Amino acid sequence: MNQVLVLNSGSSSIKYRLIDMDDRARLADGTVERIGESAGSVADHAAGMDVVLGALKGRLDRSRLAAVGHRVVHGGDRFRGPTLIDDEVCDAIRELIPLAPLHNPANLTLIEAARSAFPDTPQVAVFDTAFHQTLPDYAYTYAIPKEWRTDLGVRRYGFHGTSHQYVSRRAAAMLGREPEEVNMIVLHLGNGASVCAVREGKSVDTSMGMTPLEGLVMGTRSGDLDPAVSAYIARQSGQSAEQIDQTLNKASGLLALAGSNDMRDVDTAAAKGEEAARLALDVYCYRIRKYIGAYLAALGRVDAVAFTAGVGENSATVRAGALLGLEHLGISVSPKRNAQESKQERYISPYWAQTAVLVVPTDEEIEIADQALQVLGAQP
Ligand code: ADP
Repeated sequence: MNQVLVLNSGSSSIKYRLIDMDDRARLADGTVERIGESAGSVADHAAGMDVVLGALKGRLDRSRLAAVGHRVVHGGDRFRGPTLIDDEVCDAIRELIPLAPLHNPANLTLIEAARSAFPDTPQVAVFDTAFHQTLPDYAYTYAIPKEWRTDLGVRRYGFHGTSHQYVSRRAAAMLGREPEEVNMIVLHLGNGASVCAVREGKSVDTSMGMTPLEGLVMGTRSGDLDPAVSAYIARQSGQSAEQIDQTLNKASGLLALAGSNDMRDVDTAAAKGEEAARLALDVYCYRIRKYIGAYLAALGRVDAVAFTAGVGENSATVRAGALLGLEHLGISVSPKRNAQESKQERYISPYWAQTAVLVVPTDEEIEIADQALQVLGAQP
Protein backbone atom coordinates (compact mmCIF):
# COMPACT_ATOMS: atom_id res chain seq x y z
CA MET A 1 0.00 0.00 0.00
CA ASN A 2 2.37 2.69 -1.14
CA GLN A 3 0.52 4.50 -3.90
CA VAL A 4 -1.45 7.74 -3.50
CA LEU A 5 -3.63 9.25 -6.22
CA VAL A 6 -3.89 13.04 -5.98
CA LEU A 7 -6.80 14.81 -7.68
CA ASN A 8 -6.60 18.58 -7.92
CA SER A 9 -9.66 20.01 -9.62
CA GLY A 10 -10.19 23.58 -10.71
CA SER A 11 -13.55 24.86 -11.93
CA SER A 12 -12.86 23.53 -15.46
CA SER A 13 -9.87 21.18 -15.09
CA ILE A 14 -8.58 18.13 -13.23
CA LYS A 15 -4.87 17.69 -12.50
CA TYR A 16 -4.01 14.18 -11.41
CA ARG A 17 -0.85 12.52 -10.18
CA LEU A 18 -0.25 8.95 -9.10
CA ILE A 19 2.68 8.80 -6.68
CA ASP A 20 4.74 5.92 -5.36
CA MET A 21 5.26 7.18 -1.80
CA ASP A 22 8.28 4.92 -1.17
CA ASP A 23 10.46 6.93 -3.52
CA ARG A 24 7.98 9.76 -4.26
CA ALA A 25 8.17 8.89 -7.97
CA ARG A 26 5.43 9.97 -10.36
CA LEU A 27 3.83 6.85 -11.80
CA ALA A 28 1.47 8.95 -13.92
CA ASP A 29 0.38 12.53 -14.19
CA GLY A 30 -1.61 14.78 -16.44
CA THR A 31 -4.40 17.33 -16.78
CA VAL A 32 -7.91 17.07 -18.14
CA GLU A 33 -8.79 20.53 -19.42
CA ARG A 34 -11.76 22.61 -20.60
CA ILE A 35 -14.31 20.56 -18.67
CA GLY A 36 -17.87 21.68 -19.37
CA GLU A 37 -16.71 24.49 -21.65
CA SER A 38 -18.09 23.53 -25.04
CA ALA A 39 -19.92 20.86 -26.96
CA GLY A 40 -17.58 17.95 -27.58
CA SER A 41 -15.41 18.65 -24.53
CA VAL A 42 -15.57 16.56 -21.35
CA ALA A 43 -19.06 17.26 -19.95
CA ASP A 44 -18.39 17.50 -16.21
CA HIS A 45 -16.01 16.42 -13.45
CA ALA A 46 -17.61 12.97 -13.24
CA ALA A 47 -16.86 12.42 -16.95
CA GLY A 48 -13.41 13.89 -16.25
CA MET A 49 -12.85 11.14 -13.66
CA ASP A 50 -13.50 8.55 -16.38
CA VAL A 51 -10.79 10.19 -18.51
CA VAL A 52 -8.39 10.04 -15.55
CA LEU A 53 -9.21 6.37 -14.93
CA GLY A 54 -8.55 5.63 -18.60
CA ALA A 55 -5.18 7.36 -18.40
CA LEU A 56 -4.24 5.40 -15.27
CA LYS A 57 -4.97 2.00 -16.85
CA GLY A 58 -1.99 -0.29 -16.49
CA ARG A 59 -0.22 2.00 -14.02
CA LEU A 60 -2.62 2.09 -11.09
CA ASP A 61 -2.56 -1.02 -8.91
CA ARG A 62 -5.71 -0.96 -6.77
CA SER A 63 -4.25 -3.36 -4.25
CA ARG A 64 -1.42 -0.88 -3.60
CA LEU A 65 -3.52 2.29 -3.51
CA ALA A 66 -3.36 3.61 0.09
CA ALA A 67 -5.42 6.79 -0.42
CA VAL A 68 -6.95 9.26 -2.81
CA GLY A 69 -6.08 12.85 -1.87
CA HIS A 70 -8.41 15.63 -3.03
CA ARG A 71 -7.69 19.32 -3.13
CA VAL A 72 -10.78 21.20 -1.97
CA VAL A 73 -10.79 24.96 -2.40
CA HIS A 74 -12.99 26.20 0.43
CA GLY A 75 -13.09 24.67 3.89
CA GLY A 76 -14.65 27.73 5.55
CA ASP A 77 -13.85 27.93 9.26
CA ARG A 78 -14.80 24.31 9.77
CA PHE A 79 -11.76 22.49 8.34
CA ARG A 80 -8.43 23.23 9.99
CA GLY A 81 -6.48 20.32 8.49
CA PRO A 82 -6.66 17.33 6.16
CA THR A 83 -9.87 15.36 6.72
CA LEU A 84 -10.96 11.79 6.01
CA ILE A 85 -13.97 12.05 3.69
CA ASP A 86 -17.34 10.58 4.66
CA ASP A 87 -20.94 11.59 3.85
CA GLU A 88 -20.91 14.22 6.57
CA VAL A 89 -17.74 15.85 5.20
CA CYS A 90 -19.33 15.91 1.72
CA ASP A 91 -22.38 17.65 3.21
CA ALA A 92 -20.14 20.23 4.88
CA ILE A 93 -18.29 20.92 1.60
CA ARG A 94 -21.72 21.31 -0.04
CA GLU A 95 -22.81 23.80 2.63
CA LEU A 96 -19.75 25.90 1.78
CA ILE A 97 -20.74 26.24 -1.92
CA PRO A 98 -21.98 29.84 -1.50
CA LEU A 99 -18.43 30.84 -0.51
CA ALA A 100 -16.85 29.12 -3.55
CA PRO A 101 -19.63 28.75 -6.14
CA LEU A 102 -17.36 27.63 -9.01
CA HIS A 103 -14.87 25.44 -7.16
CA ASN A 104 -16.59 23.52 -4.38
CA PRO A 105 -19.26 21.97 -6.68
CA ALA A 106 -16.51 20.77 -9.06
CA ASN A 107 -14.49 19.39 -6.13
CA LEU A 108 -17.58 17.59 -4.78
CA THR A 109 -18.52 16.02 -8.11
CA LEU A 110 -15.00 14.67 -8.41
CA ILE A 111 -14.97 13.37 -4.83
CA GLU A 112 -18.22 11.52 -5.45
CA ALA A 113 -16.93 10.05 -8.72
CA ALA A 114 -13.70 8.95 -7.01
CA ARG A 115 -15.60 7.41 -4.09
CA SER A 116 -17.61 5.27 -6.46
CA ALA A 117 -14.54 4.39 -8.55
CA PHE A 118 -12.55 3.40 -5.42
CA PRO A 119 -15.16 2.39 -2.81
CA ASP A 120 -12.61 0.59 -0.63
CA THR A 121 -9.90 3.27 -0.64
CA PRO A 122 -9.83 6.03 2.00
CA GLN A 123 -10.32 9.49 0.48
CA VAL A 124 -8.86 12.57 2.13
CA ALA A 125 -9.78 16.23 1.57
CA VAL A 126 -6.97 18.78 1.77
CA PHE A 127 -8.32 22.32 1.92
CA ASP A 128 -6.74 25.41 0.33
CA THR A 129 -7.95 27.43 3.31
CA ALA A 130 -6.85 25.12 6.15
CA PHE A 131 -3.29 26.41 6.66
CA HIS A 132 -4.72 29.91 7.25
CA GLN A 133 -7.06 28.84 10.05
CA THR A 134 -4.32 29.97 12.47
CA LEU A 135 -4.81 33.65 11.53
CA PRO A 136 -5.52 35.74 14.65
CA ASP A 137 -9.02 37.28 14.81
CA TYR A 138 -7.70 40.80 14.18
CA ALA A 139 -6.14 39.62 10.90
CA TYR A 140 -9.18 37.74 9.57
CA THR A 141 -11.91 40.16 10.68
CA TYR A 142 -13.30 42.72 8.23
CA ALA A 143 -14.79 45.86 9.78
CA ILE A 144 -18.36 45.21 8.61
CA PRO A 145 -21.74 44.62 10.28
CA LYS A 146 -22.05 41.73 12.68
CA GLU A 147 -24.78 39.92 10.67
CA TRP A 148 -22.51 39.79 7.63
CA ARG A 149 -19.73 38.32 9.74
CA THR A 150 -21.76 35.83 11.77
CA ASP A 151 -24.72 34.87 9.55
CA LEU A 152 -23.02 35.11 6.17
CA GLY A 153 -19.47 34.05 7.10
CA VAL A 154 -17.78 37.12 5.63
CA ARG A 155 -14.15 37.06 6.82
CA ARG A 156 -10.67 36.48 5.47
CA TYR A 157 -10.10 32.77 4.80
CA GLY A 158 -7.07 32.85 2.50
CA PHE A 159 -6.12 30.31 -0.20
CA HIS A 160 -3.05 28.53 -1.66
CA GLY A 161 -2.59 27.13 1.87
CA THR A 162 -1.17 23.81 0.66
CA SER A 163 1.49 25.62 -1.34
CA HIS A 164 2.33 28.12 1.43
CA GLN A 165 2.64 25.27 3.92
CA TYR A 166 4.86 23.16 1.65
CA VAL A 167 7.09 26.08 0.66
CA SER A 168 7.47 27.38 4.21
CA ARG A 169 8.55 23.95 5.42
CA ARG A 170 11.03 23.52 2.57
CA ALA A 171 12.38 27.05 3.13
CA ALA A 172 12.97 26.29 6.84
CA ALA A 173 14.83 23.13 5.81
CA MET A 174 17.00 25.20 3.45
CA LEU A 175 17.92 27.44 6.42
CA GLY A 176 18.76 24.30 8.40
CA ARG A 177 16.04 25.00 10.98
CA GLU A 178 12.70 23.67 12.16
CA PRO A 179 9.59 25.47 10.80
CA GLU A 180 8.79 26.51 14.43
CA GLU A 181 12.03 28.52 14.55
CA VAL A 182 11.51 30.59 11.43
CA ASN A 183 9.51 33.68 10.40
CA MET A 184 9.05 34.24 6.70
CA ILE A 185 7.09 35.79 3.88
CA VAL A 186 6.00 33.38 1.13
CA LEU A 187 5.11 34.81 -2.29
CA HIS A 188 3.03 32.38 -4.36
CA LEU A 189 2.96 34.01 -7.81
CA GLY A 190 1.14 31.83 -10.34
CA ASN A 191 -1.97 32.55 -12.38
CA GLY A 192 -3.51 33.25 -9.01
CA ALA A 193 -1.17 34.95 -6.56
CA SER A 194 -1.02 35.45 -2.81
CA VAL A 195 1.39 36.39 -0.03
CA CYS A 196 1.53 34.67 3.33
CA ALA A 197 3.12 35.86 6.57
CA VAL A 198 4.36 32.77 8.41
CA ARG A 199 5.36 33.04 12.07
CA GLU A 200 7.06 30.00 13.57
CA GLY A 201 5.54 27.66 10.97
CA LYS A 202 1.99 29.07 11.22
CA SER A 203 0.12 31.37 8.83
CA VAL A 204 -0.65 34.66 10.63
CA ASP A 205 -1.79 36.73 7.65
CA THR A 206 -2.43 36.28 3.94
CA SER A 207 -3.47 38.52 1.08
CA MET A 208 -6.41 36.59 -0.38
CA GLY A 209 -9.62 37.17 1.55
CA MET A 210 -13.12 35.70 1.64
CA THR A 211 -12.49 34.77 -2.01
CA PRO A 212 -9.28 34.54 -4.08
CA LEU A 213 -9.91 38.01 -5.54
CA GLU A 214 -8.27 40.14 -2.84
CA GLY A 215 -4.60 41.07 -2.61
CA LEU A 216 -1.98 40.91 -5.33
CA VAL A 217 -2.46 41.70 -9.01
CA MET A 218 -2.95 38.35 -10.78
CA GLY A 219 -3.19 37.00 -14.35
CA THR A 220 -6.85 37.96 -14.73
CA ARG A 221 -7.84 39.18 -11.22
CA SER A 222 -7.61 42.75 -10.03
CA GLY A 223 -6.53 42.07 -6.46
CA ASP A 224 -7.08 44.94 -3.98
CA LEU A 225 -9.63 47.51 -5.06
CA ASP A 226 -11.75 50.16 -3.38
CA PRO A 227 -14.92 48.17 -2.54
CA ALA A 228 -17.00 51.14 -3.72
CA VAL A 229 -15.86 50.54 -7.31
CA SER A 230 -18.38 47.70 -7.81
CA ALA A 231 -21.37 49.85 -6.87
CA TYR A 232 -20.02 52.74 -8.96
CA ILE A 233 -19.66 50.54 -12.08
CA ALA A 234 -23.12 49.05 -11.47
CA ARG A 235 -24.66 52.54 -11.33
CA GLN A 236 -22.73 53.93 -14.29
CA SER A 237 -23.01 50.94 -16.66
CA GLY A 238 -26.07 49.05 -15.44
CA GLN A 239 -24.05 45.83 -15.11
CA SER A 240 -25.19 43.22 -12.62
CA ALA A 241 -23.18 42.17 -9.55
CA GLU A 242 -22.53 38.87 -11.36
CA GLN A 243 -21.08 40.60 -14.45
CA ILE A 244 -18.85 42.86 -12.36
CA ASP A 245 -17.62 39.87 -10.34
CA GLN A 246 -16.78 38.09 -13.62
CA THR A 247 -14.88 41.11 -14.92
CA LEU A 248 -12.83 41.49 -11.74
CA ASN A 249 -12.01 37.76 -11.72
CA LYS A 250 -11.59 36.94 -15.41
CA ALA A 251 -10.89 40.15 -17.32
CA SER A 252 -8.73 42.24 -15.00
CA GLY A 253 -5.16 41.96 -13.67
CA LEU A 254 -2.29 41.65 -16.17
CA LEU A 255 -4.78 40.79 -18.93
CA ALA A 256 -6.58 44.11 -18.53
CA LEU A 257 -3.41 46.17 -18.17
CA ALA A 258 -1.18 44.55 -20.79
CA GLY A 259 -3.41 42.42 -23.01
CA SER A 260 -2.04 39.08 -21.79
CA ASN A 261 -2.37 37.14 -18.54
CA ASP A 262 0.92 35.33 -19.21
CA MET A 263 3.85 36.99 -17.44
CA ARG A 264 6.22 35.79 -20.21
CA ASP A 265 4.35 37.95 -22.75
CA VAL A 266 4.24 40.94 -20.40
CA ASP A 267 7.95 40.63 -19.64
CA THR A 268 8.89 40.40 -23.34
CA ALA A 269 6.66 43.34 -24.29
CA ALA A 270 8.04 45.48 -21.43
CA ALA A 271 11.60 44.67 -22.51
CA LYS A 272 10.69 45.91 -26.01
CA GLY A 273 9.59 49.20 -24.49
CA GLU A 274 5.81 48.77 -24.69
CA GLU A 275 4.31 51.26 -22.26
CA ALA A 276 1.23 49.22 -21.25
CA ALA A 277 3.42 46.23 -20.36
CA ARG A 278 5.87 48.45 -18.43
CA LEU A 279 2.98 49.83 -16.39
CA ALA A 280 1.50 46.33 -15.79
CA LEU A 281 4.84 45.06 -14.51
CA ASP A 282 5.31 48.10 -12.26
CA VAL A 283 1.80 47.79 -10.80
CA TYR A 284 2.33 44.03 -10.26
CA CYS A 285 5.69 44.43 -8.52
CA TYR A 286 4.70 47.49 -6.48
CA ARG A 287 1.68 45.63 -5.06
CA ILE A 288 3.96 42.79 -3.93
CA ARG A 289 6.40 45.29 -2.38
CA LYS A 290 3.60 46.93 -0.38
CA TYR A 291 2.58 43.55 1.05
CA ILE A 292 6.17 42.73 1.95
CA GLY A 293 6.31 46.00 3.90
CA ALA A 294 3.03 45.21 5.63
CA TYR A 295 4.11 41.69 6.57
CA LEU A 296 7.52 42.86 7.81
CA ALA A 297 5.54 45.02 10.23
CA ALA A 298 3.20 42.12 11.08
CA LEU A 299 6.06 39.69 11.76
CA GLY A 300 8.69 41.98 13.29
CA ARG A 301 11.55 39.65 12.43
CA VAL A 302 11.78 38.01 9.00
CA ASP A 303 14.37 35.29 8.34
CA ALA A 304 13.42 34.56 4.73
CA VAL A 305 11.41 35.70 1.74
CA ALA A 306 10.48 32.77 -0.53
CA PHE A 307 9.26 32.99 -4.13
CA THR A 308 7.22 30.17 -5.66
CA ALA A 309 4.80 29.13 -8.50
CA GLY A 310 5.08 29.87 -12.24
CA VAL A 311 6.05 33.54 -12.03
CA GLY A 312 7.92 33.36 -8.71
CA GLU A 313 10.03 30.40 -9.83
CA ASN A 314 10.81 31.72 -13.30
CA SER A 315 10.68 35.49 -13.58
CA ALA A 316 13.93 37.18 -12.51
CA THR A 317 12.36 40.50 -13.57
CA VAL A 318 9.48 40.15 -11.13
CA ARG A 319 11.68 38.94 -8.27
CA ALA A 320 14.05 41.88 -8.66
CA GLY A 321 11.19 44.35 -9.21
CA ALA A 322 9.27 43.15 -6.16
CA LEU A 323 12.27 43.66 -3.85
CA LEU A 324 13.46 46.92 -5.39
CA GLY A 325 14.57 49.44 -2.77
CA LEU A 326 14.28 47.10 0.21
CA GLU A 327 18.07 46.88 0.79
CA HIS A 328 17.88 49.10 3.86
CA LEU A 329 15.50 46.53 5.37
CA GLY A 330 18.07 43.80 4.78
CA ILE A 331 16.26 42.32 1.77
CA SER A 332 17.93 42.16 -1.64
CA VAL A 333 18.79 39.82 -4.51
CA SER A 334 22.17 39.09 -6.03
CA PRO A 335 21.68 40.00 -9.73
CA LYS A 336 23.84 37.07 -10.78
CA ARG A 337 22.07 34.47 -8.63
CA ASN A 338 18.66 35.88 -9.54
CA ALA A 339 19.37 35.64 -13.28
CA GLN A 340 20.41 31.98 -13.05
CA GLU A 341 17.60 29.77 -14.40
CA SER A 342 17.00 26.56 -12.49
CA LYS A 343 14.28 24.11 -11.41
CA GLN A 344 15.99 23.59 -8.03
CA GLU A 345 15.47 25.14 -4.61
CA ARG A 346 18.02 27.95 -4.35
CA TYR A 347 19.24 31.11 -2.63
CA ILE A 348 19.12 34.31 -4.68
CA SER A 349 20.19 36.75 -1.93
CA PRO A 350 23.82 37.90 -1.73
CA TYR A 351 25.98 35.96 0.76
CA TRP A 352 26.08 38.92 3.16
CA ALA A 353 22.30 39.46 3.28
CA GLN A 354 20.52 39.52 6.66
CA THR A 355 17.39 37.97 5.19
CA ALA A 356 17.57 34.91 2.95
CA VAL A 357 15.77 35.34 -0.36
CA LEU A 358 14.85 31.92 -1.75
CA VAL A 359 13.24 30.33 -4.79
CA VAL A 360 11.35 27.18 -3.79
CA PRO A 361 9.48 25.27 -6.52
CA THR A 362 6.08 24.42 -5.07
CA ASP A 363 4.64 20.91 -5.15
CA GLU A 364 1.02 20.89 -4.02
CA GLU A 365 0.50 17.29 -5.18
CA ILE A 366 3.26 15.91 -2.93
CA GLU A 367 1.96 17.98 -0.02
CA ILE A 368 -1.58 16.64 -0.56
CA ALA A 369 -0.26 13.07 -0.74
CA ASP A 370 1.78 13.53 2.47
CA GLN A 371 -1.18 15.04 4.30
CA ALA A 372 -3.46 12.24 3.08
CA LEU A 373 -1.13 9.65 4.58
CA GLN A 374 -0.79 11.67 7.80
CA VAL A 375 -4.55 11.49 8.28
CA LEU A 376 -4.42 7.73 7.88
CA GLY A 377 -1.79 7.61 10.59
CA ALA A 378 0.96 6.46 8.29
CA GLN A 379 3.86 8.87 8.45
CA PRO A 380 5.22 9.83 5.02
P1 ADP B 1 -1.35 28.02 -11.70
O1 ADP B 1 -1.80 29.06 -10.75
O2 ADP B 1 -2.26 27.86 -12.89
O3 ADP B 1 -0.89 26.72 -11.07
P2 ADP B 1 1.44 28.43 -12.36
O4 ADP B 1 2.01 28.41 -11.00
O5 ADP B 1 1.75 27.33 -13.29
O6 ADP B 1 -0.11 28.71 -12.34
O7 ADP B 1 1.90 29.81 -13.02
C1 ADP B 1 1.48 30.17 -14.28
C2 ADP B 1 2.13 31.49 -14.63
O8 ADP B 1 3.55 31.36 -14.58
C3 ADP B 1 1.79 31.95 -16.04
O9 ADP B 1 1.07 33.16 -15.97
C4 ADP B 1 3.12 32.21 -16.70
O10 ADP B 1 3.11 33.48 -17.24
C5 ADP B 1 4.11 32.20 -15.58
N1 ADP B 1 5.40 31.70 -16.05
C6 ADP B 1 5.74 30.43 -16.38
N2 ADP B 1 7.02 30.40 -16.84
C7 ADP B 1 7.48 31.67 -16.82
C8 ADP B 1 8.72 32.31 -17.17
N3 ADP B 1 9.74 31.61 -17.65
N4 ADP B 1 8.81 33.64 -16.99
C9 ADP B 1 7.79 34.36 -16.51
N5 ADP B 1 6.61 33.83 -16.16
C10 ADP B 1 6.45 32.50 -16.30
